[in-house]
Amino acid sequence: MVYLITGGAGFIGANLAHYLTSQGHFVVIYDKLTYAGNMGSLDGILNEQFTFVHGDICDTELVYKTLRGYNADAIFHLAAESHVDRSIDGPAAFIKTNINGTFSMLTAARRYYETLDEERKSRFRFLHISTDEVYGSLGDTGYFTEETPYAPNSPYSASKASSDHLVRAWFHTYGLPVLTTNCSNNYGPRQFPEKLIPLIIHNALVGNELPIYGDGKNVRDWLYVEDHCRALYTVMQRGVPGETYNIGGSCERQNIQIVKTICSILDSLRPKAGGSKYESQITFVKDRPGHDRRYAIDASKIKRELSWQPQETFESGILKTVKWYLDNMSWTKNIFSGKYHCERLGLGRNTQ
Ligand code: NAD
Repeated sequence: MVYLITGGAGFIGANLAHYLTSQGHFVVIYDKLTYAGNMGSLDGILNEQFTFVHGDICDTELVYKTLRGYNADAIFHLAAESHVDRSIDGPAAFIKTNINGTFSMLTAARRYYETLDEERKSRFRFLHISTDEVYGSLGDTGYFTEETPYAPNSPYSASKASSDHLVRAWFHTYGLPVLTTNCSNNYGPRQFPEKLIPLIIHNALVGNELPIYGDGKNVRDWLYVEDHCRALYTVMQRGVPGETYNIGGSCERQNIQIVKTICSILDSLRPKAGGSKYESQITFVKDRPGHDRRYAIDASKIKRELSWQPQETFESGILKTVKWYLDNMSWTKNIFSGKYHCERLGLGRNTQ
């Protein structure tokens, strides 16, 4: 199969590219290479198994030509602006990429779909990768199901919610075979070090403060990224067009627990010179505006209907993750030095 992955140079997209090529598929990565896209994350994938197209998802014509040019069988649509803090400081890019960009993707996909013969049409899927943040915030109890009403609270989650609605409409109005997944927080290798887990690992190792918002008791449901990739592949293969699937790891943790766990793993794998503990670097900072208190996913539908199960516990996944960042410190260093920025790669000017 030939899969087009938008946002394939980002965190989840790159892990998905590694996963799909390991299953013998060919992937076409379509990515604008914003600050979050990183060609270094694709190291190790054999050249004959992937190709890279530098483009913006808002460029409908280029998306269409790419689908045609590579005879794509299906699309994993991950390209997005994805960081809540950035959406608070500058929502415009989120509206443009997440809403207009998804509209553009649907337009190109629909045009392409109409060119396919019946056999290829029956195989074609547009899988839209979304977030549990569209459901808003939970109290101490309860879970998000596929029936939970949308109640996004940040510009990021509102833009993702809008894109989910567009995708749904393209199924009901035009019959495009779409699927949507709403997943909880991911962690694992190749995550841009502005997100909690890679940021804490990096700051701990370089001796910086470990910043925690508010009282540190915000709860997220954490999923190891490879488990997410397996879930996406499962939905792509066996999901029913028009359906949505919640994906989560049933691993609820407070942010403070996450940070303390990372500190204790680092204490044993890379003890600090002088014998002090990494926890001594923790500092509490002013809370993010509109910070959702708790997210928790009920993933029983995908487990029951598609037989997907996460393979990692939080303990096994976080240990693998910390080890990966310790073994790949040059990856983080290269990101901070801009080694993989598109200008340096001769791919033209980045717009952000
Ligand atoms: P990321 O920020 O690491 O990567 C996003 C990628 O999209 C980057 O490679 C970037 O260059 C690319 N991109 C951005 N704008 C683009 C545009 N206009 N055209 C083409 N490419 C563009 O994001 P991520 O964490 O890998 O998330 C991927 C998807 O999964 C997003 O849609 C996000 O909403 C969703 N998601 C993420 C999580 C999570 O915990 N990270 C959880 C649930 C859902």
